[in-house]
Amino acid sequence: MQRVAGRFIYSASDLNNDLECRRLTWLENQLVLGKVPRPVTGAALDLIAGKGDAHEARYLAELRALHGGAVVAFEERVENTIDAMLAAEAKTLAAMASGAQIIYQATFFDGTFLGRTDFLRRVETPSAKWPWSYEVVDTKLALQPKAYFLLQLCNYSEHVARLQGTMPVNGHLVLGSGLEAHFRVDDYAAYYRHQKAQFLARAGHVTEAYPAEIPHCLICRWTQNCEDRREADDYLGLVAWMRSSQIDRFTAGGITTIGALGAATDEQRPLGMVDVVRDAARASGAAAPAAHGKTPLLRIVAARRETRLLAAPAAR
Ligand code: SF4
Repeated sequence: MQRVAGRFIYSASDLNNDLECRRLTWLENQLVLGKVPRPVTGAALDLIAGKGDAHEARYLAELRALHGGAVVAFEERVENTIDAMLAAEAKTLAAMASGAQIIYQATFFDGTFLGRTDFLRRVETPSAKWPWSYEVVDTKLALQPKAYFLLQLCNYSEHVARLQGTMPVNGHLVLGSGLEAHFRVDDYAAYYRHQKAQFLARAGHVTEAYPAEIPHCLICRWTQNCEDRREADDYLGLVAWMRSSQIDRFTAGGITTIGALGAATDEQRPLGMVDVVRDAARASGAAAPAAHGKTPLLRIVAARRETRLLAAPAAR
């Protein structure tokens, strides 16, 4: 996501991010508006990015060995101006019109979405403009395809269709194993159109969402921001083994923080929710709380996959 000449410009990654986490969309929006500082990414994310670049470079070297001079590469960075984006797309279109076998780092810009594909591969299926056409090839470190890879393929294929006048039949992923996976764009087009429409409808009035922890947090650059927020809120989700459905039940019962949970009597907890706390204590090796009455628990907190036992609130 970026803001250029007063308008928001999105990428396929923004679509994917929004599918994973609404807070992520909100944070990226706030960053673009200068309302939050740029997050500092840790070594783990840098390592993943480095491995992704190496995977892409390896595949480019293979293609160059195979096709030699028929590979057109656009390796320069595209400036953040509307004119530069339009000029980069014009170069992509010229390379497509020339019939290049492979186009590396093709740029697309439709006024709202900016796309930069890893590779376009020429196929001998005629397009509306030429006796050939292009299909998108994306490199991914993962060993298995993921749903959001397909959204990305659809987004890039939509750009390709705009330039060549015909929707590509297939999209391709070169996985971390080196194996190629192939997908019919048409099979995922309706899903893609739906997600894109939903995203654009929300994008005009992005609202803050709570950072409930999800698997995507492990590879998200906003992890520290969201962890800080959960800690500051004494968020129930920090209790080890607490499920989101349990958080919802406690919250509905007026218990919204770990402190409140620890201080609540069994009678104050929503019906059936006493054992959650007791089970968490047992699983952590802590002494089981009293069966009735005030429970001397309990701040069993899972932070970054470590479990630590915090001081129990004083018994009253
Ligand atoms: S760290 Fe997790 S909750 Fe926060 S923005 Fe990223 S995915 Fe969303």
